[in-house]
Amino acid sequence: MLPDLHLHTSRCGHATGDMEEYIAVARYRGLKSIGFADHVPMYWLPPGERDPALAMAEEELPRYIESVRRLQRANTGLTIYLGIEADYIPGCEDQLRTLLCRYPFDYVLGSVHYLGGWGFDNPDLVQEYTRRDVDELYRQYFQMVQQAARAGLFDVIAHPDLIKKFGYRARMDLRELYEETARACAEGDVCIEVNTAGLRVPAGEIYPSLDFLKLCRRYQVPVTVGSDAHQPHLVAYGWDRARDWLLAAGYRELVVFRERRREVIPL
Ligand SMILES: [Zn+2]
Ligand SMILES: [Zn+2]
Repeated sequence: MLPDLHLHTSRCGHATGDMEEYIAVARYRGLKSIGFADHVPMYWLPPGERDPALAMAEEELPRYIESVRRLQRANTGLTIYLGIEADYIPGCEDQLRTLLCRYPFDYVLGSVHYLGGWGFDNPDLVQEYTRRDVDELYRQYFQMVQQAARAGLFDVIAHPDLIKKFGYRARMDLRELYEETARACAEGDVCIEVNTAGLRVPAGEIYPSLDFLKLCRRYQVPVTVGSDAHQPHLVAYGWDRARDWLLAAGYRELVVFRERRREVIPL
């Protein structure tokens, strides 16, 4: 079974289930390793402006880490990694670097969820797509991903074509953007994530698209796998399809992390 390195918990304010419930499902499905990667506190905003429905509060972070440590000790036969999902906000790189340095994460998933302050993956803000030029949005999105890949902050770029989430598809040929982005990941020495959450939203497709994943493979960008579960029953969701997607792109191995060092495992 592939390791699921992208699990959320009720701590973030918009997921359900505590860590024990995610672990129980992982065990039931026969996983040998998982990683929690809950949303990092909204470091780019003053504490008073942070939305408790989007991410944990900063004072929760030590408790999050302590919970993972406790569960690592309590669970034999299941490897549990300590990850975190961190938003990439251009101009706030130093704040994020300072925050990440203070904690012993095994890995950091880097995510682009905002374009110029617009949370484009937020279902409450989906109307904004109708006011935008979708091709232009895709250009902006992938440029932001490339910047994130080169920022030296992240181990993995999560859901690397999240901009397709609500089914607004570019009319232009995306090949060039995909290739630039794959190259940026290689140059920035980051992995990319095959994320099955795309199957559960209007996009109806794993992140990233197969064309994009094949280019990542060509540029020798390593991969991780994640369900992005926000409910315990979604642990390892779509796992057969994730494996097929990886094999179709030519991958034969994937990576996990310990103290921010990669370990390669066969697919
Ligand atoms: Zn979330
Ligand atoms: Zn995300």
